[in-house]
This record gives sequence, structure tokens and C-alpha cells, in this order.
Amino acid sequence: MKCSICGKNVKDKNVRMLDGKSFGIECWKQAVEEKREAGLDVWKLKQYQKTLLFVEMLRMKDMSKIKNQFKLDFVSSMVNQFDLKGFVTKKQKVIILGDGERNQFGFVNAGWLNNKDYFNLEKLADEHKVKVYPVI
Ligand SMILES: [Zn+2]
Repeated sequence: MKCSICGKNVKDKNVRMLDGKSFGIECWKQAVEEKREAGLDVWKLKQYQKTLLFVEMLRMKDMSKIKNQFKLDFVSSMVNQFDLKGFVTKKQKVIILGDGERNQFGFVNAGWLNNKDYFNLEKLADEHKVKVYPVI
């Protein structure tokens, strides 16, 4: 991948993301610093990074076995929304991640993710040195 500031090639494991752009580590630090100086607070930035990894994980998700059209549409429209507008609502995240609450029939709302999705999410978080939990 190329760094969007200096144009150098960056090894996959060193790529850092911000606002949908890729950076090498040094340029990313600079971009984050500029964003901080521009007045966006650190908490918001961290929330944003968590959402970014959440969306990246969904992009990696194997949707080929999902037959439920509502789920397919929901995930793809949410990813599109993030790409266009840069946010995902808490409600949208809860639908995918679940909230552990029981419904009237006693079933726990465990969300739509499988072990592989959680593994991918942790791997991305590791690579980007971002803590993703709690995701919401
Ligand atoms: Zn760079």
C-alpha cells in the first residue's frame, strides 16, 4: 500500500489508517497530530478508529454463506454509509455485535459475528495498536 502523504510503499503490517486513507507510521503520527491540532478531541478520534476497524472487519467477513437478504443489505449499506459519511450509529453496531440482552423468549442477543470475525477484529486492532474493546 502507498502512504497517502509521502507516496512511499508501506508494508501491510505497518499501514495505519485515518479517514479512509492509508499512511506509513511516521506520516500517520503526523496526520493524527494535525487532526488533534485541528480540534478533534482524542476520545472522538479513538472512537473513530474503533469504528474504522469494525468496518474493516466487516469488509473481511465471509458473506457467501449468509442467505438472509436483510443481513446482507444491512452490512453493505452500513459499510457504504461509513465510506460516505464517516460514521456508524450505536444502534447499527448493536445489531451486528449484539448487546447480550435476553428477549421475551429468553434468547440472548449475541449479534451476527462468528469466532473468525472476532479473531479478525483483534488482529486488526493489534496491527493498528488500537484497543477495540468495548467496541460500542
Ligand atoms: Zn508517508
